[in-house]
Amino acid sequence: MATAIEHILREQLQDRRLRLEQAVAAVGESPQVSHLIREVDAALARMETGSYGLCEVCHEPIESDRLISDPLTRFCLDHLTLNQQRALEDDLELAARIQKGLLPNPHFHFGAWDVAYHYEPAGIVSGDYCDLVTSESGDFYFILGDVSGKGVAASMLMAHLQAMFRTLIPMGLPLQELVERASRVFCESTLPTHFATLVCGKADAAGGVEVCNAGHLPPLLIGGERVQSIDATGLPLGAFCDEQFATSRVRVEPGQTLLLYTDGLSEARDNAGQMYGIHRIHGLARGLKGSRPQGLIEVCLKDLTAFRKNAPAEDDLTIMAVCRTAAS
Ligand SMILES: [Zn+2]
Repeated sequence: MATAIEHILREQLQDRRLRLEQAVAAVGESPQVSHLIREVDAALARMETGSYGLCEVCHEPIESDRLISDPLTRFCLDHLTLNQQRALEDDLELAARIQKGLLPNPHFHFGAWDVAYHYEPAGIVSGDYCDLVTSESGDFYFILGDVSGKGVAASMLMAHLQAMFRTLIPMGLPLQELVERASRVFCESTLPTHFATLVCGKADAAGGVEVCNAGHLPPLLIGGERVQSIDATGLPLGAFCDEQFATSRVRVEPGQTLLLYTDGLSEARDNAGQMYGIHRIHGLARGLKGSRPQGLIEVCLKDLTAFRKNAPAEDDLTIMAVCRTAAS
């Protein structure tokens, strides 16, 4: 196990022990609390002997995202008891339902803008962040991000990003400051190994769009003479705590669309291991016509299915189409 993670987990365990002792001091001993203290002590002892983080059945390393969400875990996923497996599945299903509730309205209209998205986790929950938020100033924000890693740990960070942007957007900060603040909070509250690539766009009623691309795959402006790619202007969110970001501006004419996606599309593979690739997305984007976002996304999904055939999805997939429908 990486020493940085073990260091953080040790601090968490020591902190947990302290809080349990305080609880005992405040309300007296109870069998449950004594049991927990013994478990925490046993985990700390395993760290001393070097057996921490190894499954007690097969002695292989336990999945690190599971250790991060529960530092007392002693078995790898393959060696949970039947009851533990069922409890885990129930937890995951609930987490998936909660995550669905965090997603924006799937039929989003705002002035002359029409937005649709497709959000598909590779497993039960996703590490992609997808959001649409209107502001009092008459603009709206569209955000698409991808947290490093997959599964439950990534989905927790996705929820964290969502809460941050929902809190920061109503403050009416300039776009780059909004992203800088989000990056700082994200950096301070996550493990050093976690970061998120993200595109945050702010669109006005007249078709002007300001975009901050923090290390994410370039959104494509389609429907004009050529496909225009909006490249990253900064590093991923949370890579460094004092990161600075820049923004760029594009004009979206009536009938044009901004297409955003995560690497679940660009890095999808077929059975032979071939990658879908950005080149194919550009080719597809050149042929996309019309300003019905749902229709554009369906064309993308159809092409992806045709390419992938039966190969399983390996990564969370999100596609978003931000269309400007009519002059205003
Ligand atoms: Zn095992």
